[in-house]
Amino acid sequence: TVEKVLVSSCLLGQAVRYDGGHNLMESELVQTWLEQGRIVAICPECAGGLPTPRPPAERVGQRILTAQGEDVTHAFSLGADLALKLAQQQGIKVAILKARSPSCGNRQIYDGQFAKQLIAGQGLTAEKLSAAGITVFNELELSAAAACVAELEQS
Ligand code: SF4
Repeated sequence: TVEKVLVSSCLLGQAVRYDGGHNLMESELVQTWLEQGRIVAICPECAGGLPTPRPPAERVGQRILTAQGEDVTHAFSLGADLALKLAQQQGIKVAILKARSPSCGNRQIYDGQFAKQLIAGQGLTAEKLSAAGITVFNELELSAAAACVAELEQS
């Protein structure tokens, strides 16, 4: 079986980042996976109904707040639900999500003070996917992701 991989849209060059930019990964592996039709893209924040550009937001406990204090938890949480639903519909077990995002971050996120300080933690989507048994890597962990996909295909 060909394992599909859920990937953050901004890592594929889609201009969906909060500031209207993207974070394209220059990677032969990802290029090959795209050609093989393995990649399923999603931007959870867009899926949750947020516009681009949008105000920067950080996780504060179970809530997501903008720098101005607006509570955008509902949209982030809806986006996480939709990402999980898409992954489950596609039988996906592996994701590559953008590091440090309040939605997509898999190991570290900003501390909620908007002072560029990182702490250990996950974005809402990464957390939801992990809790459902999907292994979440970030764009700096592509070889580990490739190894995980290869192992799943062998078993
Ligand atoms: Fe990228 Fe995820 Fe932020 Fe969307 S929510 S722009 S996919 S990091």
